This record gives sequence, C-alpha cells and structure tokens, in this order.
Amino acid sequence: MKKITIIGTGFAALAAVCKLRARDAEAEITVIGKIAEFVYLPSLIWIPSGLRRPEDLIVPLDNYFRRMRVRFYAGEATGLKDGGRVVLTDTGEVANDGLIIASGGRFMKKLPGIEYVVTPCEGVAAAVRIRDRLRELQGGTIAVGFGSNPNEPSAMRGGPMFEFLFGLHTQLVREGRRDRFKLVFFSPMKEPGKRLGEKAVKELLAAMAASSIETHLGHEISGFTVDKVMTEGGDIPADLILFMPGMTGNAWFDNTDLPRSPGGLLKADQYCRVEGCDKVYVAGDSGSFPGPDWMPKQAHLAGLQASTAATNLLAELSGRAPAQTFKVELICIVDSLDAGMLVWRTARTSLVLPPLSWMHGLKRLFEWWFLRRLS
Ligand SMILES: Cc1cc2nc3c(=O)[nH]c(=O)nc-3n(C[C@H](O)[C@H](O)[C@H](O)COP(=O)(O)OP(=O)(O)OC[C@H]3O[C@@H](n4cnc5c(N)ncnc54)[C@H](O)[C@@H]3O)c2cc1C
Repeated sequence: MKKITIIGTGFAALAAVCKLRARDAEAEITVIGKIAEFVYLPSLIWIPSGLRRPEDLIVPLDNYFRRMRVRFYAGEATGLKDGGRVVLTDTGEVANDGLIIASGGRFMKKLPGIEYVVTPCEGVAAAVRIRDRLRELQGGTIAVGFGSNPNEPSAMRGGPMFEFLFGLHTQLVREGRRDRFKLVFFSPMKEPGKRLGEKAVKELLAAMAASSIETHLGHEISGFTVDKVMTEGGDIPADLILFMPGMTGNAWFDNTDLPRSPGGLLKADQYCRVEGCDKVYVAGDSGSFPGPDWMPKQAHLAGLQASTAATNLLAELSGRAPAQTFKVELICIVDSLDAGMLVWRTARTSLVLPPLSWMHGLKRLFEWWFLRRLS
C-alpha cells in the first residue's frame, strides 16, 4: 500500500486528496494540518459588508476526510528528514513513500510600520478587523494597496485587493455614507494588476475613476504609521489601511534542504516535482513553477497543480516516469458586491468582460458548489 502524505488543508491539499483517491482506492493518505478545517479564502471579501460570516467560510473537514478515507494528523510541519520520507511536525514525525507540499504562502512583513495595516488575505480574523473598524468609523480615508516580492514579482496576490476596494465602495454607497469617505488605491506599480492583462488594467482603473476612487501609483512604499502610508511620491493620510505585501515561502521551508526560488518559494519543475528531490511534490501558493510571468497565485491553478502532482506521484510510486503537466490558466471574477468582472487568460486567449451583475451571482454559485462537496 502506498503511503502518501499531504501537508496543508487548503485548496491544493484538497484537490490532491480528491485526485489521489479517484486514482487509487487503496492508497494510505495522511493529511497534516493545524486543524481539520478548510477556509474558503475567496469569500473573505464579503465579510466586511456582512454578506458572509466567519462561520460560513470555515468548514470542518471531518466528514470529508472520513468519506475520502484520509487519516488526519494534527500538527504543523516544521521540517523534513531522510530526503522528505519523514515530515517533522510540532507534534511528532510522519513517514511517507511520497509527499505533496501544499502549505500555501506567507506574506512578507518587512516594511516599517507593517503592524499598522490589515493584511486582509491572511484570513478570517483580518477580514473581521476590517468589518469592525468600518462600523466604528464615521468617515475618513481608507487606503487599499498591494506590493510584490522584489525577488520574484509573480509572488503576489493583487486581485482580492481590487475586490476589497470595489466592495468597500459598494458597501458605503448602500449604507448611504460614501460621501463621508475617501477611498485611495496605492501601488508601487504604474499598471497594477498587469498580470490580468493590459485590457483588465484599463478596465480596473476606469472602474476606480467611475467610483471616485483616487489612485497613487508608481511610487515605492517606504512604510506605514498608524495614520498614513508613506511612499517615495508622498504620504497618504489614512484612517484604515488595507495592504497586501508580496508573498514568500513558509518559514518551515528554512529548516529543509528543499531548493528555493529567488522569492523563497519551493522550486518546482513542470511536473510539480520539487527540483532534485525524490517523490517530493509541491502545489499551489507554496511553489514557484516554470511558466509565463503572469502565472497567478490562485485557487484555480492550485487545484490544477495539485491534480498534476497527485497523478505524477502515483505514476512514480508505480515505477513510471511522471508525464503530466498542468495548463497555465488565470481565471477570476473581480467582484464588487453587486457585480463581477470576468478575467480569463491562457497562453492563447485573453478575455475581459465589463462588470456584470450575474457574474456576482456566478461567484456565489461556485462557492456554494465547492463548499457543498466538503460537507
Ligand atoms: C481574499 C482572497 C480572495 C481570493 N480570490 C480568489 C479567487 O477569486 N479565485 C481564485 O482562484 N483564487 C483566489 N484567491 C487565492 C486562493 O485562495 C489561493 O491561491 C489558494 O488558497 C492557494 O491554495 P493553497 O492550497 O496553495 O494555499 P492555502 O489555501 O493558503 O492553504 C494552505 C494550507 O496549509 C496550511 N499550513 C500552513 N502552514 C502549515 C504547516 N507548517 N503545517 C501544516 N499545514 C500548514 C494552512 O493552514 C492551510 O490549510 C483568493 C485569496 C484570498 C485571500
């Protein structure tokens, strides 16, 4: 019986479980995680307005794991031993014949004063902080922005920040207090969201102008204080700052010999193998994969990579060479609480639709479909 270990309980980990179980009814699958829970990160954008409550997005995985015959091991990975054949955790050691690392990414917290900003993509607690602060504020300036990893520009996540920004605008309009708030979008990039494609950048900037959202673009960020964003092009006074720094690899990778990309992620090949390692695979935000510079850090791609990793690992465990690669595809609906803008990009296609109300409905439908499968 093949003993396969997966680290993490996010999108990539669950996609790997699904593919492994579909392809091998007998494999002994162990998932290592802090807690047997899945957090549906894309809907964090709906917490500030109250459209979603934290408990709507945190899903216990006990039933799902029982159905998929997965052994859950409660612990945080802290390192590896024997070339990856043993995972070290804070609660003990877990042996395997093959390993898939799907422990997500980490945000870089190096800028001075970073403690004064809310990093919304960190999880439910951060989104709740935004909701509560908005309730307190009678008016003022909300600054929303993102940066990237200077050593690996693709290690970043910008899309959700546009969603928080447009969602805040819609929410304040609905609450009849938009006129008391100034919304400012800031980024060191002159063309923020470029990975979504040229047309998408134009659409996003046009949508900001149409919603009276000011922009402060193309200036390096030098730090934050409790009430301002400091950039090389001047300061932005703010009562609430939402900022998404660039991403890097998990701290526990430092206790391993795994090869790293310039940005600190795990260096993978086109088969999702960690380069130079035996039967050690990576999927999702943890990895740096070969491909175009617009390759996103997205749940959709994490799923495709995890499925590829699972297929190739099973092939290797059966004595065959890994042969499956994954399609690089960016697909997202940039939501604004009342509408959504579809962006779809592949090597051959680039499609951007203007904001449509039914796209918001489609995003909600997808969330329902995804979470239903885990119940
Ligand atoms: C607000 C927001 C909106 C988004 N919107 C979209 C969208 O519309 N479409 C889209 O495709 N993507 C979207 N994304 C991106 C998407 O959520 C991520 O790309 C995706 O979650 C990556 O999946 P992952 O499995 O690699 O990492 P994660 O989902 O972050 O999962 C990592 C897992 O590893 C666990 N873990 C971490 N460290 C350890 C450790 N040491 N030991 C054990 N376990 C560990 C974590 O607890 C977690 O369970 C959005 C993200 C955010 C935050």
